[in-house]
Amino acid sequence: MSPITHFLAGWVGFESSLRNQRDRAIVCLAGLAPDLDGAGIVIDLFNKLASLPETSFYQDWHRLYGHGITAAIVFSLFAAAFGHDRLRVAIAAFFCVHLHFLCDLLGSRGSTPDDLWGLYYLAPWDVTQEIVWQGQWQLISWQNTLISVTLMLILLERASRKGYSPVGCLSPRADHRFIAVLRQWRYAVMKRFG
Ligand SMILES: [Zn+2]
Repeated sequence: MSPITHFLAGWVGFESSLRNQRDRAIVCLAGLAPDLDGAGIVIDLFNKLASLPETSFYQDWHRLYGHGITAAIVFSLFAAAFGHDRLRVAIAAFFCVHLHFLCDLLGSRGSTPDDLWGLYYLAPWDVTQEIVWQGQWQLISWQNTLISVTLMLILLERASRKGYSPVGCLSPRADHRFIAVLRQWRYAVMKRFG
């Protein structure tokens, strides 16, 4: 799925179990980290633009090195190193990375039914065992849009109720203003329908 969906899933899935904005941001970033193995696309593009011999690092690396148990452990340890509540951050990051894997397995295929994306959970130690779901839907699909919109609505509703949102990871003051606007909307909606 897209990084936006992964971020929303990470926030909605784990913000309640973490005690401060820094730890929430770290866990959400850990949930995005598996797609770092797609960074080979930069080298491929550069070689193409510079008319150098073509490479396929994106195809060769993506889903192979960042989408497995070893990567999940590495990302979790990394997240814990930067977190306040280290054990809690490590556990949440581990599950957040696996939520990313699950989302990818559900809805990341290409434009044709056989263009499925599989995960190599034991990579880089064993790249013969591929996990794939035959019912996988397209990356650009109504299912992914519906999931993203639903997650966003949950995030906004919770933010208006609890008084914090992902904006606070960047600027507490901006979050303050954002929450004030959300609460006005919430009040308007409740007045209209409640
Ligand atoms: Zn991914």
